[in-house]
Formats: sequence, structure tokens, C-alpha cells
Amino acid sequence: MGNDRKLKICIDRDECIGDKACENDAPETFAMDDDDKAMVINPQGDDLESIMVAAENCPVECITVIDEATGEKLYPKE
Ligand code: SF4
Repeated sequence: MGNDRKLKICIDRDECIGDKACENDAPETFAMDDDDKAMVINPQGDDLESIMVAAENCPVECITVIDEATGEKLYPKE
């Protein structure tokens, strides 16, 4: 699995409520840290679709996904 696209994934830790939704959708990309906040363990861990689903399913919309090569913001769309 994984994806070839180099992604920059940011998580607003102040907003994260630690419900693990992102980890469930893309477990090779997101994991919970010791503070029960999400962190990125590998921005290319899952396929792009799974990462996008994880970002879309975040209940507080605190995940941002950027294509590093082009700078395009993949999520959220502006
Ligand atoms: S889905 Fe959002 S709120 Fe839930 S753990 Fe992941 S980053 Fe945090």
C-alpha cells in the first residue's frame, strides 16, 4: 500500500479530540500519541484515497493535506 505522492499532512493538535477516526481510516499514516492526540507516523503510509477519507471524516476538521510537489491543498479544499 502507500502512495507515491509526497504529502504534507498537518494536524491541529489543539483541535484534535482523540477519537481515533483518522487512525481507523488510515492506520499506516496516523497514530495516537501519549497525549491521545493524533500524529502522523508516515505521510505515505496509506493510499491517497484512505488519507483523504481520514481527513474528511475528522469530526473537528483539524487535518490538512497538501501535495508537497505542487503545493496544492488537497484537503480542505478552498
Ligand atoms: S480524526 Fe481528527 S479529532 Fe479524531 S483523532 Fe484524528 S485528528 Fe484527532
